[in-house]
Amino acid sequence: MSVVGIDLGNLQAIIAVARNRGIDVICNEVSNRATPNIVSFGPKQRYLGEAAKTQEISNAKNTVVSIKRIIGRTIDDPEVQEVEKNFIMAELADANGQAGVKVQYLNEEQIFSNVQLLAMYLNKLKDTTASEINGPVSDCVITVPGWFTEVQRRAVLTATEMVGLNCLRLVNDLTAAALGYGITKLDLPEEKPRNVAFVDIGHSSYSCQIVSFIKGQLTVRGNAFDEHFGGREFDAIIVDKLAEQFKEKFKIDVFSNKKALLRLRVAAERCKKVLSANPQAPVNIESIMDDRDVSAMVTREEFEEWAGHLFVRTEDVLKKALENAGLTIEEIDAVEMVGGTTRIPAIKATVSKFFGKDISTTLNQDEAMARGAALQCAMLSPVFKVRDFRVNEICTYPIKLVWDATPEEEETEIVVFDNNNSIPSTKILTFFRREPFTLQAFYAKPESLPRGINPWIGQFNIKNVEPVNGEPAQIKVKVRLNIHGLISVESAYTVEEKMVDEETKNKDGEKEIKKVKKLVKTGDLSVVSGTTALSKELVNEYAEKESQMYANDKLIAATEAAKNSLEEYGYEMRDKILGPLSDYIDPSIKDKFAEDLNAVVDWIYEDGYDAPKSVYVEKLEALKKIGNPVIERYREADERPHAERSLRDTM
Ligand code: ATP
Ligand code: MG
Repeated sequence: MSVVGIDLGNLQAIIAVARNRGIDVICNEVSNRATPNIVSFGPKQRYLGEAAKTQEISNAKNTVVSIKRIIGRTIDDPEVQEVEKNFIMAELADANGQAGVKVQYLNEEQIFSNVQLLAMYLNKLKDTTASEINGPVSDCVITVPGWFTEVQRRAVLTATEMVGLNCLRLVNDLTAAALGYGITKLDLPEEKPRNVAFVDIGHSSYSCQIVSFIKGQLTVRGNAFDEHFGGREFDAIIVDKLAEQFKEKFKIDVFSNKKALLRLRVAAERCKKVLSANPQAPVNIESIMDDRDVSAMVTREEFEEWAGHLFVRTEDVLKKALENAGLTIEEIDAVEMVGGTTRIPAIKATVSKFFGKDISTTLNQDEAMARGAALQCAMLSPVFKVRDFRVNEICTYPIKLVWDATPEEEETEIVVFDNNNSIPSTKILTFFRREPFTLQAFYAKPESLPRGINPWIGQFNIKNVEPVNGEPAQIKVKVRLNIHGLISVESAYTVEEKMVDEETKNKDGEKEIKKVKKLVKTGDLSVVSGTTALSKELVNEYAEKESQMYANDKLIAATEAAKNSLEEYGYEMRDKILGPLSDYIDPSIKDKFAEDLNAVVDWIYEDGYDAPKSVYVEKLEALKKIGNPVIERYREADERPHAERSLRDTM
């Protein structure tokens, strides 16, 4: 059984696995510890992760980034149309109302929804993990930003289900980091908590979470977010400034040419990274467009001036997080920073100055979230034993239930889970009703939600309600905020006050039976739920399609491998039978064999370029039938002299 943690970043994902020795971050097929979050489509196959990264510019129109940003969003969402459209070069498309893309795949125009795209990527991560741990992968914990809402969380879960991953928890990324922190700190206080501010600035967003630690447990106190503050915003600033310079200096407009813009983005990111460690960074791009080469020099001072407004904004999130946690700066004992963008010196300086403290470095800046997620998975998985550590998570946005007024009841809504309510959590509400009724769940403060997110969460119809003796029935409704942060009505039932026997003991210790009035459950009511989840049929259809595409990719890879072996054999044997093997091949077949080998190599580049796997395999077998005896004879002869020599030596 696997115990896996995935930090699902917008730029890249990091996978950690729990093993007996501890938590390890695993490497992908090109030995990187992070895998690009990119999916790309070609005429014969898909390219996922690293393979897609290499297509980012050459096959931009069929390559998709920003998958985490569009997950769970509709096609007309302003975040998709106004923001992500600038990053996704593939054409955006309506996939059953969901945000999706239209691409050329298998020489056909095809549309894929955001959930399908995420499933493709997760399937790749699953594969990478399976080959590393040499076994099947199912149980996992995946990180999401604390600001993800119900619809986004559901979409991520649906994608995991589609590829056979069993997500034990969607954990808030900074809570995962905090768990890793808490479990390794052996000096946590017994009583007065240690308050730590965790700051994550990644590729596209910024979170701050204040967490209190005492021995054996952590409690999230409050958090705050800026969903439009990450590395890509800094890249964009450099892109804009350099584009301006190039216009003047080289008379080119990179915004008029998609490929040029992509090339400049890559160069700008590199420039930004160099500036984190150096006072200046050169930018050189060969034939950016119209066969023009461009170059520029950016100093750190310039960059800090250009991005000044972002550095100012850095403090806002910190202030809000403290406010939500109900703590003052003086009460913060330590500050930990994670995420690639916190490497920018001016960001570090701003955060450090705000808290009046040096930044602690307990956590691995890139891997802390994945490690924490793997730890959380180990704690939830039955197969692993981990030291107990309580994680008291909170709900980010207040949630209310709304219903129609009745003659008996004027009230029509209640905030059922306020922000800072713990997760998971169950509440039981009481209603008096004569007939079936409906509860609607909404986020109570729509203005605090990420832009474009509909505050509607779900609808729950409580059925089969009837009056009891002409009076409204008393109904209990059990509402659950589950471990992923999703809302559901778990059950509804009627209760009645009845006289029941209760056994008590009197003061002499003798048993007494007393009649007492008690609320007892008298019947279950059925609940029909409507949520933001995709329909079962659609999910099944997606899952089926995903497994077909997966099988096709595997077949293409196996075909490619068979073709490569045939080609390699052809070249190698041709050289060898003319060289070292020359004396060991029957002269009557030698020329014919050499000819056959030549023919195969030629064939691969002509008619055989696109042959099915079986043809490559058959051809290789046919050649080996002739070649293998030759190699065998050579080997025997090669061993004989050693045998003779050793015989001579003993004489
Ligand atoms: P998100 O958390 O926003 O979903 P992510 O987890 O994929 O995204 P990270 O891997 O934490 O993001 O950070 C990636 C960002 O960090 C990129 O924008 C990258 O350019 C930036 N980055 C990485 N190294 C440096 C550096 N040395 N200096 C400045 N920025 C850097
Ligand atoms: Mg991240």
